[in-house]
Amino acid sequence: MTPFDSVAIVDWSGGNDTGARPRRDAIWLGLARAGEAQRPPPRYLRNRLEAEETLETLIESERTAGRRLLIGFDFPFGFPAGFAAALTGRADTLAVWHWLEARIEDSPRANNRFALAGAINRALGGGRGPFWGNGRPALDVPGLPRTKADYANPFPERRAAERIARGSFTCWQLAGAGAVGSQVLMGLPVLERLRRRFAPDVAVWPFQPLAGAPVIFAEIWPTLIDGAVKRATARGGIRDAHQVDLLAVALARLPRGDLIAMLDCDAAEEGWIMGLGHEKKLEQAAAQHGTDLRPPPLRDDCFALPAGVDWTPVDDALALLRDRLHPVVATTSAPLGKALGRILAQDVTARRANPPQPNSAVDGYGFAHSALGGGDQLLPLLPGRAAAGVPFDGTVPAGHALRVLTGAALPEGVDTVILQEDVTASDTQIAFRPGIRPGANTRRAGEDVEPGQTILAAGRRLTPADLALASATGLADLPLRQRLRVAVISTGDELIEPGDTPAPGQIFDANRPMLLGLAAEFGFETLDLGRIPDNRDTLRAAFDRGAREADVILTSGGASAGDEDHVSALLNAAGAMAEWRIAVKPGRPLALGLWNDTPVFGLPGNPVAALVCTLIFARPAMGLLAGAGWHEPQGFDLPAAFSKTKKPGRREYLRARMRDGRAEVFPSEGSGRISGLSWAEGLVELPDGAARITPGTPVRYLPFSGFL
Ligand code: AMP
Ligand code: MG
Repeated sequence: MTPFDSVAIVDWSGGNDTGARPRRDAIWLGLARAGEAQRPPPRYLRNRLEAEETLETLIESERTAGRRLLIGFDFPFGFPAGFAAALTGRADTLAVWHWLEARIEDSPRANNRFALAGAINRALGGGRGPFWGNGRPALDVPGLPRTKADYANPFPERRAAERIARGSFTCWQLAGAGAVGSQVLMGLPVLERLRRRFAPDVAVWPFQPLAGAPVIFAEIWPTLIDGAVKRATARGGIRDAHQVDLLAVALARLPRGDLIAMLDCDAAEEGWIMGLGHEKKLEQAAAQHGTDLRPPPLRDDCFALPAGVDWTPVDDALALLRDRLHPVVATTSAPLGKALGRILAQDVTARRANPPQPNSAVDGYGFAHSALGGGDQLLPLLPGRAAAGVPFDGTVPAGHALRVLTGAALPEGVDTVILQEDVTASDTQIAFRPGIRPGANTRRAGEDVEPGQTILAAGRRLTPADLALASATGLADLPLRQRLRVAVISTGDELIEPGDTPAPGQIFDANRPMLLGLAAEFGFETLDLGRIPDNRDTLRAAFDRGAREADVILTSGGASAGDEDHVSALLNAAGAMAEWRIAVKPGRPLALGLWNDTPVFGLPGNPVAALVCTLIFARPAMGLLAGAGWHEPQGFDLPAAFSKTKKPGRREYLRARMRDGRAEVFPSEGSGRISGLSWAEGLVELPDGAARITPGTPVRYLPFSGFL
């Protein structure tokens, strides 16, 4: 456990929110929670007002959830030694916070930071320092030097931490690249207000004791993980967003001991940069597989069934799996071209509109609709054309037309396109009938997808069309789950490999190729752990390897409670197994358990029961473990092509297929009949209660493809 449950990182801004569009270098907020694979995408906050409100909400929600929160800010919390006492009469950094909060006036479009800095300079430095830099060319501020030419600083230029942090800027500089001073003047008042609002819950590091405080503010410097940020930015995205995201992840991931070492600091007046001197560890944590974050393990009792129930109904068993299982695979990211069939780890939003600009839907001629008269039309044709990827460089005057091709961006002056088949054209003019409507044959920018719109939801298994959508809307990398690794073991002394010469009583292993194939079809990575004789030590070694190298273990055979049922015996001995007696046919008891935190599905040995139990129970469970959410098999009702009388008590699955719009079932229900499995293309599901089916009775048909 880390000393914090949640880590938020804020990339601050000292500037104003002027102009119509949000600025790129506004404020970014990254959030990661220790042990949680899912994390929200970094948030863009366009000004300090929005940031203050967002932080307030965050502190409230984390406090309510009982999560201890560290918030790291990327600007100095303190000034070089001596400044606090000179300004406030006390060598106390938090007194400076208080002092500034009382005097800084801030709104999204204007603030008094330059004037206040000038006043401080006049009071403490004869009007020549410590602050310098004035971002507004038109307005001189008394006491605030514009440049360092006429500058004198009565205090040290840098704090001790900044003398070590190579490339850091000083907190005295208010304008130009690296105007950290402006961030400090505009940031500390916000922190002071938050601190006051949530007193006594907020502790400011390193000025206050942290023990027991549910919220900690710390100064942090994203440059400490510059390598990881550079690599992430090279793959796409906004640098500031990567900074807050990766730093939050790194801190959420670091072992407790490392964090405690980072927080061990007594630089009482000037403050310190958290993580300074520990860059290697931070970088490593930030860079681990790009963005991977390992989720917490499953709980020991995740497979426990309600006590006292003899045969658990299928729906109850499924509800229990659905409740207690969660993703066990880490998140990562991959280029779009490698993402087919993978599971999305987060919602994905469009970076760009589709279409990105208004364009023509046909080959034809474009013009301004408003300039058309009544009656037949005759428009002079401009030389040149607009084609997809080769826009027309110029404006089409009203009353003129231009040749445009499908996909071409509409030139300036064109809002309507007439199909080439509907015009008579010469080299210099076109003629056409009246009646075309304004905007005809054009596509609006964003008519399909607007930027920022969620295009694909977390948990989705990516299809070829999803990749088209992601690519069209400007995405290059996608947040993915790592593939679920599924280990498969067959057990039984009687089993031999295909190609072996059978001795009396031996049978070929049918389940392993089937289960490996199913897992692969579900989109998982497979690990073949072979055929294990009915021997506990050999099986234990196979379980150990499965737990090391895979996320789930599927076994078949040996799952009952007999002498040779070593799967259940081993899991039982490990103390985290439940014997699942489920009211289902076919299906003997299943043995569900954890082996070193790795879930084991002990399936029946019978191939028919093994397949049905895999599809009905293991498939949706593995979907959850893989991060795809709960997966209901997709099916539909069909008229039966068979007759059957079913007793109440157990849900039944029959090997079935659809022919001529009706559901046929395999003539024999024997659970050793592998030929029927191969014959079938799906299952007919009969309800738990009694049923009397005659030809034409509607039955539920679940095609095998509906389980994928
Ligand atoms: P068990 O659950 O181990 O008692 O096995 C039940 C039945 O399934 C026995 O008849 C086994 O021989 C058969 N069986 C178990 N594993 C396999 C397998 N991998 N391939 C084919 N049949 C199997
Ligand atoms: Mg056996």
